[in-house]
Amino acid sequence: DRSGSNGGRGDGVEVNLDIHLAHSARMYDFYLGGTTNFPADREAAGRALAVFPYARSAARANRAFMRRSTRLLARSGIRQFLDIGTGIPTSPNLHEVAQQVVPDAAVVYADNDPIVLLHAQALLHGTEQGVTAYVQADVREPDALLEAAARTLDFEQPIALSMNALLHFVPDDAHRITEGLKARLPRGSALVISHLTPDFAPDETTRLIQVYTAAGTPVAACTSEEFGRFFTGWDVLDPGVVATTRWNPSLEEDTERISDAGASCYGAVAVRP
Ligand code: SAH
Repeated sequence: DRSGSNGGRGDGVEVNLDIHLAHSARMYDFYLGGTTNFPADREAAGRALAVFPYARSAARANRAFMRRSTRLLARSGIRQFLDIGTGIPTSPNLHEVAQQVVPDAAVVYADNDPIVLLHAQALLHGTEQGVTAYVQADVREPDALLEAAARTLDFEQPIALSMNALLHFVPDDAHRITEGLKARLPRGSALVISHLTPDFAPDETTRLIQVYTAAGTPVAACTSEEFGRFFTGWDVLDPGVVATTRWNPSLEEDTERISDAGASCYGAVAVRP
């Protein structure tokens, strides 16, 4: 069993949860109808929903974008996936989508929230042929993150790097961090990003940012131009930069219809030429 070497409990990693402070991963879990959240998270999520009624549909649209983009990349032959800002496990997780297409796909998850570490076992039940691993790491310290990921992934072969609904939580540094990660990925690698935008529901989004910032979690939203800059130098796949919900909906049956405001995130996928 090659999976789980970095994940789960029992490997000496201290899990220190402060359940009295709302946290973005647990608020996101609440929007998705999950049960891994505490009163402080639900209160903060309630404040967010009061000013931004799209939080639930935006989270669902974001998960659906993850599934469709993973499916497309697996079908196109990518066999390695690095998912940063994984979130609390929710079905299906990325490795289940990827390994359905490519049973021996290798998937590394990374998140900096201890609660994700605590639940990482759910991320480590892959196919027999496939490999999954979890690393507790911060995207703002990419060297340590990549070093841990390299225990599982071959950085000489194409890797699909996904950062879904993550970069809006690193407001000042998102472009620099992304460029640093892109530089480490070989030709044929893919970059998948979704990110909050004010373009579809400007007033509600402004208030959402205020609520998160007041709760101690700075958030930024980006325009389509700023979003497009994440992919500079790489070939952006069709249909380009669109609301997550408009990104290749035909890749999934029974796609839920969600308006652009209901999604409030841009999504795009690009490949390193
Ligand atoms: N990618 C998942 C979850 C998004 S929620 C999805 O699209 O459904 C955002 C996640 O990013 C949370 O789990 C949060 O803990 C994580 N996160 C926030 N800041 C981070 C950082 N600096 N480094 C790593 N993970 C981070």
